[in-house]
Amino acid sequence: EWMSYKDIREKFLSFFESKSHKRLASSPLVPNDPQLMFTVAGMVPFKPIFWGKMEPTYTRITTCQKCIRTNDIDNVGRTARHQTFFEMLGNFSFGDYFKEEAIVWAWEFLTDVLHMPEDKLWPSVYLEDDEAFKIWKDIVGVPEDRIMKFDKSENWWGPVGPTGPCGPSSEIYFDTGYTNNCPDSSNCSPACECGRFVEIWNIVFTEFYADENGTFSPLQRKNIDTGAGLERITAAIQNVYSNFDTDVFSNIIKKIEKVLKVNYGQDDKKDVSIKVIADHARAAAFIISEGILPSNEGRGYVLRRIIRRAIRHGNLLGMKDKFFNDIVDQVILDMGSFYPEIKDKKDFIDKIIDAEETRFLETLDKGIEKLNNIIKDIKTDIISGDIVFELYDTYGFPVDITREIAEDNSLSIDEDGFDMFMNEQKERARSAAGSKEYDSKNEAYKIVGEELLRTNFEGYDKLSSSSKV
Ligand code: ATP
Ligand code: MG
Ligand code: MG
Ligand code: MG
Repeated sequence: EWMSYKDIREKFLSFFESKSHKRLASSPLVPNDPQLMFTVAGMVPFKPIFWGKMEPTYTRITTCQKCIRTNDIDNVGRTARHQTFFEMLGNFSFGDYFKEEAIVWAWEFLTDVLHMPEDKLWPSVYLEDDEAFKIWKDIVGVPEDRIMKFDKSENWWGPVGPTGPCGPSSEIYFDTGYTNNCPDSSNCSPACECGRFVEIWNIVFTEFYADENGTFSPLQRKNIDTGAGLERITAAIQNVYSNFDTDVFSNIIKKIEKVLKVNYGQDDKKDVSIKVIADHARAAAFIISEGILPSNEGRGYVLRRIIRRAIRHGNLLGMKDKFFNDIVDQVILDMGSFYPEIKDKKDFIDKIIDAEETRFLETLDKGIEKLNNIIKDIKTDIISGDIVFELYDTYGFPVDITREIAEDNSLSIDEDGFDMFMNEQKERARSAAGSKEYDSKNEAYKIVGEELLRTNFEGYDKLSSSSKV
């Protein structure tokens, strides 16, 4: 039975309300947490509770959390199931219910409320977690051969850092039946990486504390942390393989088709570009709505990279003029009722995107032309560091894009050589007395659109170490 993603979101939240959970609004994408660049999961706002540093006001909470995962940026458009921006549904227990309720309710929601066919759902457990295995087998009644046992690389969470809470997890995979990419479809299971089985739901049982010696002791307060991807569940319910073919993206993609004069679903390469633009429009709108501006470091760098990557894919589709604001406006239309922050900041978002797009379009044409000429004449399969650096330094051409274009032509870039030139340049910048660091984090919040237009492009810096998520 077809349901819209908005219906699914609401059904999830009200289902867990009916199980005595307190419904809370999404926390910001910019977390109150020095270790993280963005909120990457529904549990992030509750970290102090998980770490035992704060007492919970409610012991049962349910949320739909906006998330950004920069580590998935290269997956966008290449897999059916990854975006940089997505919504994570969650139910949390802080020292309240534990494994049995968390598993039974997940099943009840998927099969009773959403009417997913039971035989298409495959749970996985950590191979030593007999307790979770028995719950799936005896209480839920899933046939034993459909319960996967995985090692720590799949079904274990934490500790984040040297010490902290951790524990086994249990995930639920949906069988899409999509076997086109499977090398051995008669033996396919969630252990296969062909993409047929999509992970839709993850329940983490935080029950241990890992100390300095790596010794686990049971936590006094055991917690449940669930993350279920709204777009992936929607794809399963709407009977489409890709998240991008759900109603989450349909208006946005229609808008892209219209503005960029392309057709979706006719050419794989073009579809990748369309998906990148659709995803990045969502990410950009939400990031800017929280006061982040394009810059050359930290969150601002991620934002700049996202906007420029979208524009570059527009360019690949033959678009020479500005287009990105039209797409972002569609995101605001679609999502502004659930997330009023993007509606309230619409003018601001438009202004920032317009400024960044103007600036980038100026450099893009020149850089691509230059790079294509280099590739045409190249005699090796690697683009040397000085060329990558020159493109970046003189033309403001992002090294990510150089790398992507190189890969499209079966070439690589000399990363070490590029780093060397970068470091030399940084050294020069440091010794240049009075040189202005215009993009320091605090300042970034104060600068507005006009200021951004005046600032000169100063090149790309590496992501700060906090970007590892
Ligand atoms: P995958 O293995 O597919 O990359 P994950 O194990 O990294 O997913 P979790 O960290 O367990 O994902 O997050 C919980 C849930 O959030 C996942 O089960 C999935 O439904 C959803 N999710 C995770 N990453 C993404 C993404 N990049 N885009 C959309 N949904 C996602
Ligand atoms: Mg992942
Ligand atoms: Mg996974
Ligand atoms: Mg997972």
